[in-house]
Amino acid sequence: MKRRILTREEWIARKRRRRRRAIATVGIMLLLIVALIAFLVFQIVKTNHNNDGVEQLASTLTKELNLKTDYLTPNPYSRPQTEINGIEGVVIHYTANPGTSAANNRSYFEGLAKKHTTYASSHYIIGLEGEVLQIIPLTEVSYASNERNKDTIAIECCIPDDTGQFNTATYSSAVTLTAALCVQFDLKEEDILRHYDITGKNCPKYYVEHADAWEQFLEDVMEKVKELKVLYKEQT
Ligand SMILES: [Zn+2]
Repeated sequence: MKRRILTREEWIARKRRRRRRAIATVGIMLLLIVALIAFLVFQIVKTNHNNDGVEQLASTLTKELNLKTDYLTPNPYSRPQTEINGIEGVVIHYTANPGTSAANNRSYFEGLAKKHTTYASSHYIIGLEGEVLQIIPLTEVSYASNERNKDTIAIECCIPDDTGQFNTATYSSAVTLTAALCVQFDLKEEDILRHYDITGKNCPKYYVEHADAWEQFLEDVMEKVKELKVLYKEQT
């Protein structure tokens, strides 16, 4: 094919077109780079902000809840060290063993490693003085809530008598701890469950037998959630 020789005007026009195209390409690339940098900065700021929040909340709760950590020795019966599959809920239980303390119940779970009688545990145990003992890290499952072990945090509450009703100190810690977990893991009211809601087991007894008491518990937790969110905002 023979190439036609361009006129001077055509040659200038072609040169202009090429220049405009080059400028447009560089412009688009610059815009993309700026957008990418803005996105990365936003992500970094967001992550730091979230980490601050979780840490501050955790320290506030340690003070407010008298929370102590005493992890179980890893063993197949109560602390299998299975990784938890995201946290989608909190499950409330009662110990079914009136008068026992948080430490007593921890010993029971620890003892399963040797006794091999059953598979059982929970992440937290709340005692009769309102003391909170964390016995399993939140990165691992506990053996408390059957098919929901994989994605929920379990809280065992100690009880003073056979009615299964929590005393004031235990109740108050259960409300605060549940609310704190809701804030930390962005959970809603419907994510707060009784063991009963999963398997139909009469646990936590009093709050299965008294639906109004359970409704009140949920209401108290959501009220505390609001309070903690305000506290968190003030701290950041
Ligand atoms: Zn239970």
